[in-house]
Amino acid sequence: MTLHIHKYGGTSVGTAEKIQNVAKKLVNEKNKTGNELVVVVSAMSGETNRMTDLAKQMQGAPSSKQMDVLLSTGEQVTIALLCMAIEELGHKAVSYTGSQVKIITDDSHSKARIEDIHTDKLKADLDAGNIVVVAGFQGVTESGAITTLGRGGSDTTAVALAAALKADECRIYTDVDGVYTTDPRVEPNARRLDKITFEEMLEMASLGSKILQIRSVEFAGKYNVPLRVLSTFKEGNGTLITYEDEEMEKALISGIAFNRDEAKVTLAGVPDMPGVASAILKPISEANIEIDMIVQNIAEDKTTDFTFTIHRDDYDNTVKILENSCEELGAEKVIGDNKIVKVSIVGVGMRSHAGIASQMFTALADEGINIQMISTSEIKISVVVDEKYLELAVRTLHESFGLSEE
Ligand code: ADP
Ligand code: ASP
Ligand code: MG
Repeated sequence: MTLHIHKYGGTSVGTAEKIQNVAKKLVNEKNKTGNELVVVVSAMSGETNRMTDLAKQMQGAPSSKQMDVLLSTGEQVTIALLCMAIEELGHKAVSYTGSQVKIITDDSHSKARIEDIHTDKLKADLDAGNIVVVAGFQGVTESGAITTLGRGGSDTTAVALAAALKADECRIYTDVDGVYTTDPRVEPNARRLDKITFEEMLEMASLGSKILQIRSVEFAGKYNVPLRVLSTFKEGNGTLITYEDEEMEKALISGIAFNRDEAKVTLAGVPDMPGVASAILKPISEANIEIDMIVQNIAEDKTTDFTFTIHRDDYDNTVKILENSCEELGAEKVIGDNKIVKVSIVGVGMRSHAGIASQMFTALADEGINIQMISTSEIKISVVVDEKYLELAVRTLHESFGLSEE
């Protein structure tokens, strides 16, 4: 028997009609193919944000434990409504919250990791001919606390269920008809990819492409889950995320990712001596602030400027911590900018080609875009630029690397 996992994101279940539309799709597919179906759903679009705003009105910094109790209800609404809509069409359906399934996670509230999934009940329901509907984004600890998996976490629920149930395919249905060369909302000429490698998708996701949660791609790569991104609203084969193969398009660059949530801070005029980098970063990591790029420049007067990027939400906190370090280390001053973005080009083809970086920098320079920071790895190059250049930078690079529709 063929088993497919489907996942429908917030915009696909955003209204009563859209939930009914998903129910129709599922019942049609079941009747036509006889496939077993496990369906993961997100909260209706806007719900997770609405609840987050409510929480902020209650408390300055609500605990992540209470936030998980609150936010997990969004998906619980959708599973019940979808089951009702399926039953209304005359098909059997069963709904499960994460804790009812026993999607066991660790206890890092708001960014929990899945450790184990109990599949017996799901299998029994499938055997009995049900469409099984599971709430995305959530789990439960061994001791019974409700957890969530981080924004976009329903993607990870779907892939983890696919791995645990050894599904034949995991299909992520969303509001675009596949993975594009870049976000089509920014570059309307972006082109849909038939296939993309796990490696490239992982880079795209980690560099800011919100089409798939990064953990879902990690999971799919690790457990070799056939993963496809498709449109809820439009027929088509979407994009298959897979291992590199001979048929893959031989492009140098497969995609352009960007991240608007960045900020950068500099501690200027720090005495250049052993231990400085660690002295600067220790209090930052103790405050649980994640650092992305780091650049250090040495000046002739034996001082250094130490610059790094962080999430924009952590900006104020980071500046405060650095002001303390500034005094302690005898540095000159703290400089910050929370109006920067990171734009990255990604492609496995880069490995075997020199000159990609210089092509990237020339294209940006020709448009008068100043590059503030650079970081590279084997299959990506990222630059930090002023946020006002985001759209221009993405479109310029898209054009320069020939990614537009032929
Ligand atoms: P869902 O609610 O279904 O989980 P998301 O909003 O999380 O949907 O993801 C879909 C969105 O991802 C698209 O609407 C698109 O704007 C954005 N996106 C970002 N990068 C890409 C890309 N490379 N290809 C396609 N969509 C992308
Ligand atoms: N509802 C959650 C969010 O908005 C999870 C998801 O949609 O994947 O991030
Ligand atoms: Mg999503």
